[in-house]
Amino acid sequence: MLSNPPPAGSEPAPGLMLFDLDGVLVNSLPVMRAAWEAVSTQLEVRVPFEAYVEHLGRPFDEILTLLGLGDTEGFAQAYQTAAVRFSHLARPFPGVEQALRDIVAAGCRLGVVTSKSVTRARPMVDALGTPFAVLRTPDQGRGKPSPDSLLLALVECGTDPADALYVGDMAVDQEAAQRAGLRYAHAAWGYGALTEPLPLILQEPAQLVDLVRERLAKGSV
Ligand SMILES: [Mg+2]
Repeated sequence: MLSNPPPAGSEPAPGLMLFDLDGVLVNSLPVMRAAWEAVSTQLEVRVPFEAYVEHLGRPFDEILTLLGLGDTEGFAQAYQTAAVRFSHLARPFPGVEQALRDIVAAGCRLGVVTSKSVTRARPMVDALGTPFAVLRTPDQGRGKPSPDSLLLALVECGTDPADALYVGDMAVDQEAAQRAGLRYAHAAWGYGALTEPLPLILQEPAQLVDLVRERLAKGSV
């Protein structure tokens, strides 16, 4: 059994909540599986999808290198094309859209920091139906676990690290937050396992709203 988050209000409520996309806001695993299997068949590659999932969170090109596929001609391009073709299989996790609306109603801004390319991330973010103040991808700067995208998001929003929180589901998310000096919360409904030091753990999206209850109570909109 995973531990529970600390009681709401034990830490100052953040003014900016940054989210990883895959495995936190959107369940895109069916898209990735369909794309991976289609391209593996097409190019006769025999790396199981489960091996790819172990490295989720890192930029795609880095994952291919880690899996020994860095030199496989056309894999990255074919995968991107297939992922767009199967993008209709992605869904927000249950409870995410309501939680985002409640967080904004409490006066906390939203942002996304993902390893997805901007071309694939933008439609998914827009489909969530709530305005996001910032979307950062590895198209600018290094990808996770480097802190670059998180730091650039803070600069774009004019926010101190102390007033922000990053919500992720993989060890690279936790490392990026730590290196950027941000608080971190782990979405237990995502794809990753927990790593030391144990972070704040959220069991369901509704618990995201508990993190900004203090703002709601103050009416600080
Ligand atoms: Mg993720």
